[in-house]
Amino acid sequence: MKKRTILSSAIVMGIALVALLCLQTLYFNEVIDICAEQFDLQTMRSLHRVAHETDEALREFPAYEELTIEERINGRNIDKRLRKLLDENGVDIPYHFRVLTADGRQIYACSDYENPGRAKEYSLQLFRDSPKAQMGVLYVHFPQRQKFILESVHYMVPVVVLILLVLVLFIFILSESVRQRRLAEEKNDFINNMTHELKTPISTISLAAQMLADKSMPKTETTLGHLSGVIVDETKRLRFLVDKVLQMSLFDQGRKTSFKLKEIDLHELVTDVVDTFRIKAEKNGGRLTTDLQATNPVVMADQLHLTNVVFNLLDNAVKYRSPDRPLQLSVKTQSDGKHLILTIADNGIGIASDNLKRIFEKFYRVSTGNRHDVKGFGLGLAYVRSVVKTLGGTIHAESQPDQGTSFIIRLPQEE
Ligand code: ADP
Repeated sequence: MKKRTILSSAIVMGIALVALLCLQTLYFNEVIDICAEQFDLQTMRSLHRVAHETDEALREFPAYEELTIEERINGRNIDKRLRKLLDENGVDIPYHFRVLTADGRQIYACSDYENPGRAKEYSLQLFRDSPKAQMGVLYVHFPQRQKFILESVHYMVPVVVLILLVLVLFIFILSESVRQRRLAEEKNDFINNMTHELKTPISTISLAAQMLADKSMPKTETTLGHLSGVIVDETKRLRFLVDKVLQMSLFDQGRKTSFKLKEIDLHELVTDVVDTFRIKAEKNGGRLTTDLQATNPVVMADQLHLTNVVFNLLDNAVKYRSPDRPLQLSVKTQSDGKHLILTIADNGIGIASDNLKRIFEKFYRVSTGNRHDVKGFGLGLAYVRSVVKTLGGTIHAESQPDQGTSFIIRLPQEE
């Protein structure tokens, strides 16, 4: 699928899902409002019936018109009626009630009466045909009203959960497809890069071989020496390239099994590797300094892989040197009692902080670092990090664009 098609379908789908969620929320609120109205209606219907039945009961007394409001109210009977009628109307939850006079004096309250607080209170006049002094007002509230209403719409919850689930899955699939796409692009770059890199030595070797095979060409000792020198150099270059790719894939397949751990003196290892790079640095007017301060330079590691780590970091420092100044490269070791710390610092082109986060990813290359003369596969640092991790250590990089970069490795040591 084309990038634009993916992007536009993702946008449409995202908008549709968010709209669906909004509509569902609106609908949900509306249903809650309807349920609350229904609840109020049923409650008031019950209260009207209670008032009516209380009125009817009063008429059974002789001279009932003379009775004071206190004499008219029988709390237990009102309670019984309330429970029966509320149950009949489907409002079967606990309630509290009280009766006041028309001017607000309390005559009766149920035994466990509590203030309504924020709960809605319903009220209705009792004995409305009597004079005001003999009238009463019945107040009822339900502490669990809100919960009861929400419970009556609980069947809507799975719908919202399902929509949210689809939304989360959608975001996950989208980010995964973007990641896969990026990986595919990076792999493509890698193959292009590799083909390009391999082509040059292959064609040089083939040219040298053709010249050797050419019978018309005089085979003096100088020509032979020159041609074989070219073949040896180019084969070395080829081997170096193939080794770099192999390092990573071998490491990926074998992981820890390909590690032959033994006690290694890092100072000895560094000194060996550094010699090659000192020549490279000095060739361009630069300098490589070592400052090996670690009191105990011994770590448990695999000789080959650890050498590759130091080699790759030094190789990068040379590759990404600044064209504006001679290379200053330093290799430092320290101990902190539990770790051996190896710092390789350069004054090269540096890495912007956005890229710095990603340089240890496989196939990742900083695009500005991809200069014509600096080819690579973006595998070196991924390999370095894998090795350090397998040895139980950590690596991180600090860098300032156009100032330089430091790689700091901490390897665990036995105390
Ligand atoms: P490669 O060198 O093959 O591209 P690496 O994994 O070794 O791959 O490095 C990843 C990227 O990190 C490089 O493309 C480069 O942009 C950046 N980088 C690595 N080391 C340095 C360094 N010492 N100075 C500046 N940039 C660096």
